[in-house]
Amino acid sequence: MQKYLLHIGGQQRPSADETYFETDNPFTGRPWAQIARGQAEDVEDAVQVAHRAMTTGSWATMSPSARGLILQRVADALEENAELLARTEVRDNGKLYSEMLGQCRYLAQWYRYYGGLADKIDGRVVPVDKPGYFTYTRREPIGVVGIVTPWNSPLLLLTWKLAPALAAGCSVVVKPSEYTSASTLEFVRILEQAGLPAGVVNVVTGFGPDVGGPLVDHPLVRKVGFTGSDATGRHIGAAAARGLKRVSLELGGKSPNIVFADADLDAAVNGAVSGIFAASGQTCIAGSRLLVQRSVHDEVVAKLVALASTARIGDPMSPDTQVGPITTRDQHKKVLEYIDIATAEGAQLALGGGVATGTGTDGWFVQPTVFTGVSNQSRLAQEEVFGPVLAVIPFDTEDEAIAIANDSKYGLGAGVWTTDLPRAFRMAEAIESGTVWVNTYRAVSFMLPFGGVKDSGIGRENGAEAIDEYLETKSVWINI
Ligand code: NAD
Repeated sequence: MQKYLLHIGGQQRPSADETYFETDNPFTGRPWAQIARGQAEDVEDAVQVAHRAMTTGSWATMSPSARGLILQRVADALEENAELLARTEVRDNGKLYSEMLGQCRYLAQWYRYYGGLADKIDGRVVPVDKPGYFTYTRREPIGVVGIVTPWNSPLLLLTWKLAPALAAGCSVVVKPSEYTSASTLEFVRILEQAGLPAGVVNVVTGFGPDVGGPLVDHPLVRKVGFTGSDATGRHIGAAAARGLKRVSLELGGKSPNIVFADADLDAAVNGAVSGIFAASGQTCIAGSRLLVQRSVHDEVVAKLVALASTARIGDPMSPDTQVGPITTRDQHKKVLEYIDIATAEGAQLALGGGVATGTGTDGWFVQPTVFTGVSNQSRLAQEEVFGPVLAVIPFDTEDEAIAIANDSKYGLGAGVWTTDLPRAFRMAEAIESGTVWVNTYRAVSFMLPFGGVKDSGIGRENGAEAIDEYLETKSVWINI
């Protein structure tokens, strides 16, 4: 079985106690690699190495333009190695190869974009109200950044933090999810082959309490970038507060996808299906609550069920597959439990509702599932399932749609399907969420900020302003 080691200071090495854990292939339900099980000592080493890299190493003295150039080379290397990285992601988390290949290639744009910003980080000369001084600001890298990522999109969610952190001149210690560590370890080797000095990015694999906890708590880590569940996010936010360090938290969602009667219903149904069933519903922005205006409710549900029932379920490496497995055994169990909860709550099953069979393996599959007649007060409508389970909720008026959409502890994404332009603007303003998509769903770009409100998180990734998350402003007074 393939073995993956920690990556610290450009070296691949076992963990301090030389233990390993297995990582599974969700399509087969069997282990495919062993991963070094990092400990607090490994975190200590990695943080010290990262700190040296950005204080005394070549990274510390490198010009911002040279830093930017390395990021451009990383972008090229990512494109050249996209097939390897996509294959590794698929083996570890079960997403469709076709989607992962496109995603890995698109990630190159983040390194190009932030590489281009590296030499545009400047301060200001400020004519203060006191005579006899020359005063200016400098924008400096905040320090060592600790990045903790989840299993659903390992390289994408790493890149959203890593590219701006490196452009800002920070060094990094990454703790990937214990379920999907391999692609991050493959990628750090590619980063160094592309010219990133050893020690600037270090990876310590292992479990949350063993590695993530000590990383977040380490006094030399000045900023924590986290994506994951709101439960862990709360824990990490509290730890960051104790250490008085900066933190950004990208957490869960229960995003409303709202279809008005005046919408192009075929487009809306397509958007609803890809919104919830892409990546088997394991995306933070899954459109898991479909709000449908009552006059078109039955028509939309009929179209939705007809389209979703044709989805081809199976091997994520096959170009014909449209729905792959659930990434982990535990998550598979959790999704099936939510289907039981929804049934017990009185929701009506319109499609799916169980394990998808016929894939020829022991993989963790769930049928695309649609429940109608769902109350927004039910657990199915309020809790994040993180699986291919859609809750359809009827509404009558625009005000009611807004009230239902906002009646959630989350606020990550929202879709609005309408041909009424003033309504589109009204909805974009009224919905409490970090992103609103009108007549589209799930689009993201390196150029546009992404993040959540309420329990969906704190801070923004992507866009020019994301680099501020990794910079500190220093004011300088010179008595002239
Ligand atoms: P998780 O919170 O269980 O784990 C995320 C990471 O935190 C893992 O690396 C884990 O090992 C680590 N961790 C666990 N306990 C820790 C601790 N005590 N200290 C430090 N680190 C610890 O989340 P998950 O199940 O891997 O991912 C799914 C969740 O991620 C979903 O809720 C989903 O909505 C969310 N998510 C959010 C976004 C977004 O951008 N908002 C994107 C993708 C996923």
